[in-house]
Amino acid sequence: MENILLLVHTEADGSLAKSALESLQAAQALAGGLGGAGLSVGIVGEKIQDAANQIAGCGAAKFLGVEGAEFAQPRYASDAAAAEALCKAAQATVVIAPATSRWTRVLAGVAARLNGRVETHVTGLRAENCAVSVTRWYYRQRMEAVLSRAQRPWFLLVDPGSQPAWEGAAGTATVEPVAVSLPESSKRTTVTGLRAPSADAQTIRPDADLLFVTGAGWTKKQADGQTHVPEAEKIIFDFLKLTRASLGSSKSLVDLGGEGQAVISFLTHLNQIGQTGSTPRHPKGLSTCCHGEEPHAVGWRFIKERRAISLDANCGWARGKADVLYVADAFAVMAKVNELVAAK
Ligand SMILES: Cc1cc2nc3c(=O)[nH]c(=O)nc-3n(C[C@H](O)[C@H](O)[C@H](O)COP(=O)(O)OP(=O)(O)OC[C@H]3O[C@@H](n4cnc5c(N)ncnc54)[C@H](O)[C@@H]3O)c2cc1C
Repeated sequence: MENILLLVHTEADGSLAKSALESLQAAQALAGGLGGAGLSVGIVGEKIQDAANQIAGCGAAKFLGVEGAEFAQPRYASDAAAAEALCKAAQATVVIAPATSRWTRVLAGVAARLNGRVETHVTGLRAENCAVSVTRWYYRQRMEAVLSRAQRPWFLLVDPGSQPAWEGAAGTATVEPVAVSLPESSKRTTVTGLRAPSADAQTIRPDADLLFVTGAGWTKKQADGQTHVPEAEKIIFDFLKLTRASLGSSKSLVDLGGEGQAVISFLTHLNQIGQTGSTPRHPKGLSTCCHGEEPHAVGWRFIKERRAISLDANCGWARGKADVLYVADAFAVMAKVNELVAAK
């Protein structure tokens, strides 16, 4: 019989992030599918009671906690010690954690300490005939594999956005403290500050409902024989500001910057979607001025509803890659969309 441990850490405000609730949903479903496997929750943070209360109604048999000022900030030595202690206290055989940067950094090391194994980029968990298996993608999201292992403990880092988030009642949870005494050598690293772009400069928003993709067409000569890059930049920026959509791009457009051409100033290679870019998981996507070639469209694999605006009725989107293709001038369409959204 498996002992499942959900391993989560608190955010700066003491709450649990959406990715933690997604892993909780996956852990709870797995425990149910295994017909009575034990489910425990292990929480790490400066103060953990609020986080435990947030998920008090999840049906976990136990809430375990490693708490204290030295566990407030991410640090390999203290996070690994906390995770190791929680796994031992729960006698965990399967450890499920959100693939945050904090857990991704330490859990392979913790698995090695406990003579276990770790899987990263898990996108699905299954229980069949009392056996656990997980799914993950390989080769730039082209092949999906189903994996199982006999070795325990088995650590599973669940990709954020791949599971529905747990929605349940808050309450009052009783947390069993797990003591971890850190030697001075485990406290040498300190986080001295955080640097993040301003809200408007931060165009990659994984939690946004919409992915807005820009293609090279925005920088190409238009019907009047001229390019209109400043106008394109304003339309795109206004749309992002009004809708808080996440900004993606084709490779061609982000590459143009490196070639010294006039481009959309707030785009970088981090915005690139596709085979050599990212594979985001937004519920909806809108492509503009992009041809929808396979190496780009493969990055749309997990976008549930896809629409595109292109002048070319024969573009890749028209060949089964989009649910709806508007054969239209994206400058005109998006200017009108901005007007309508602003009026709301
Ligand atoms: C190994 C390899 C890996 C690759 N990896 C990636 C990747 O990860 N991501 C990626 O994106 N690409 C990738 N590519 C490149 C990819 O094949 C395409 O070259 C690229 O996606 C094309 O970008 P685009 O559609 O923006 O530009 P273009 O092909 O130039 O298309 C521009 C489109 O804009 C339209 N247009 C122009 N003006 C307007 C207007 N006013 N209104 C509406 N539409 C308009 C045109 O009709 C055209 O369809 C890869 C290629 C290779 C070989």
